[in-house]
Amino acid sequence: MKDRLRGMQQSLKRFNIDAMLVNKPENRRYLSGFTGTAGSLMIDNNKAYLFTDFRYVEQAKEQSPDFTLVQIGNDYYQKVLHLLQQRGLKKIGFETDFVTHESFAKLQQELSGIQLFPVKNITEELRLVKDMEEQQLLQKAVDIVDQAWSEILSIAKPGMTEEKLALELEFIMRRKGAEGRAFDFIVASGERGALPHGVASQKEMKPGELVTIDCGAVYNGYHSDMTRNFMLGKPNQKQQDIYNIVLEAQMAGVEAVRPGVPAATVDLAARNVIERHGYAQNFGHGTGHGVGLAIHEGPRVSFNEQLVLQPGMVLTIEPGIYLPGWGGVRIEDIVLVTESGGRVLTKTPKNQLPVI
Ligand code: ZN
Ligand code: ZN
Repeated sequence: MKDRLRGMQQSLKRFNIDAMLVNKPENRRYLSGFTGTAGSLMIDNNKAYLFTDFRYVEQAKEQSPDFTLVQIGNDYYQKVLHLLQQRGLKKIGFETDFVTHESFAKLQQELSGIQLFPVKNITEELRLVKDMEEQQLLQKAVDIVDQAWSEILSIAKPGMTEEKLALELEFIMRRKGAEGRAFDFIVASGERGALPHGVASQKEMKPGELVTIDCGAVYNGYHSDMTRNFMLGKPNQKQQDIYNIVLEAQMAGVEAVRPGVPAATVDLAARNVIERHGYAQNFGHGTGHGVGLAIHEGPRVSFNEQLVLQPGMVLTIEPGIYLPGWGGVRIEDIVLVTESGGRVLTKTPKNQLPVI
């Protein structure tokens, strides 16, 4: 945590502010280790404060030893103001993409004499590169999904509803140590496969259908994210062909991951394969996204993302083809950027379309 705090203190200089208020839960957790649902950080050049109420005092002491704990009741603003004045801090940053207009108005009213400075992504930029501890937690979240997938293949059968399958999958993950699901699982069978975000429904899965499942586990706050497909019965030619194209695109994306290239290069590598096969119009989303304390974070893996990949970044590669009235296929792995290229953390096989 000390390294992360130091990173933030360097960023204060770069953003030209005296201190930063951090309220977004995943940023708060990243910088302090605090997992309570109510709390606020204030970090200046050489001090870090954690404001929380009576319910979380003991937890905060234990989780955030590098922070000075300030217990608050209804006096949060007064206590922040007092500290700012005491330490002679004038220009304070707040998270512009998290603080509501109402909270901002309140800050402005209560922190008189302090200049409030809108700041975007100051902690998110630090979170882009994962340290060893984070990489291990992410790997654990990925392992849980890998294990759950091999079990779910033996449970899935025609006649089962998508929702039932999603529920079973979550149950297996929880049993294997997940603290929760990373998002509402997508289970899209048959024609529903054309919906890139087709959350599991009451629809029964039928013989002859191709099923797309997008799922993930949370482990110690870190998210995994994987998409795989299976067939109920033997695939027809078109199902096999579309699967092969998406697989080729996904592997081209993985292949393109290396330090020093803009994220857009990875997107284009996958996108070009799909375009070459004539399905450009049927791949309407970015190739992937960063993943960590949030299910979607930087870097975006999209055609115009110039952010340059660095070792320690973790991203998904998930191209897909969606054909209205027919269905769809998407394949998604989590990839760690290393000095020598992309290392796929997901172990679930993808070379064959599983048949049940
Ligand atoms: Zn996903
Ligand atoms: Zn994803």
